[in-house]
Parts: sequence; structure tokens; C-alpha cells
Amino acid sequence: MDAAQARAWVAAIAASVTEHAAELGDLDAAIGDGDHGVNLRRGFDAAVAALATFEADTAGAVLTKTGTTLVSKVGGASGPLYGSMFRALGKALPSDDASFADGLQAGLDAIVRLGKASPGDKTMVDALTPAVAAYAASGPDAAAEAARAGAAATIPLQARKGRASYLGERSTGHQDPGATSTALIFAALASVSG
Ligand code: ADP
Ligand code: MG
Repeated sequence: MDAAQARAWVAAIAASVTEHAAELGDLDAAIGDGDHGVNLRRGFDAAVAALATFEADTAGAVLTKTGTTLVSKVGGASGPLYGSMFRALGKALPSDDASFADGLQAGLDAIVRLGKASPGDKTMVDALTPAVAAYAASGPDAAAEAARAGAAATIPLQARKGRASYLGERSTGHQDPGATSTALIFAALASVSG
């Protein structure tokens, strides 16, 4: 990935979370506090704005800047989590021909290090884990489909991490908002890859 593609990806994510902000908010209202759409919209809009005045030669620099902006602009659990993911991904791409699949794995590892969630805990990790594996095996379209399926598979799960875990059994029957936004992030990646 080069810097222009990375910028296009972040812009595509910003457009997608804006388009789906109400849906993400409704999902979070069902099992959390309803702010996930607002949080991500604020964060990715801030990232696009920061990148507009940021000179970068590599995708890694663009994605590291994105992560730093998310950490500083997004309240709630998802800001530090996605921020760490983008920072780790960016750091793993010192040159444009570094392995993007390895970078995604580093991003997933950063989220797990920070949030301590395992697959099955009903979090973004449930979409991210299969997406990262599918990307390594088959590329961006397969990753987008794996993230979508991983998010859908959170519906029957009981949350064991984050705000939704306070609901206990009442968290079942709803799709996790963070897994849903992860699916949007990978759909955006597929849309700019090619
Ligand atoms: P908050 O829960 O602080 O209101 P958001 O609503 O923005 O933050 O994000 C909620 C999402 O964050 C959840 O749907 C879940 O996917 C994710 N999440 C919460 N805690 C964790 C964690 N410990 N590890 C991974 N993901 C988490
Ligand atoms: Mg929330």
C-alpha cells in the first residue's frame, strides 16, 4: 500500500462511518451507551482533517498519524483500541512494500494487548480476527466478507468485555457495534484495493 491508497482508505472509512453512524449508534444503544457512531465519526473526520495538512511519503506514516488522531479525539473504548490498531499497522509499514497482512496482524495484536478480549467475547476482535486471517490467505475482498460474517456471528454471543458485559445475558441477541464498525473498515479497505 502507498500513501495515496492509505489516505483513500481513511477517507473511505470516514465516509462509511458517517453513512452508518445512526446504525452504529442504535447497535450501541441496545447493549452500551449509544455513542459508537458519534465516536467513530468524530475520530475519522478528525483523521481526514489531520491528514489534509500532513505530508507523508509512506502508507505507514499516514496510518500512524490516523491512529494517533483516533487516540486523541475519540472518547470511549473504541478510540484507544482502533487508535492502537492503526498505530501498530502504520509502524509495521516502514516502506510501502512491507507486508500489509503482517501489519494487520500487528494491529490485531495491539488491540488484544490493550483490551484483553478473546474471540467469542463479543467485541471488535470477533470481526478482526477472521478478517486478518482471510486477508493473509486471500486478500481484501475475502477479509471484508470475513469481517462481515464475524460481526454477524456476534449476535447470539454474551458480551464478556467492555460496557456490554455489564448486561450479562441481556447482551445476547444484538450485533456488537465494534465488530460492525470493523466490518465497515474492511469493506472500505476492499473498496480502495485493486
Ligand atoms: P464505549 O464502550 O466506551 O462507549 P464505544 O461505544 O465507542 O466505546 O465502543 C464499543 C465497542 O468497543 C464494543 O462494541 C466492542 O466491540 C469494543 N470493545 C469494548 N471493550 C473492548 C475490549 N476490551 N477489547 C476489544 N474491544 C472492545
Ligand atoms: Mg459506546
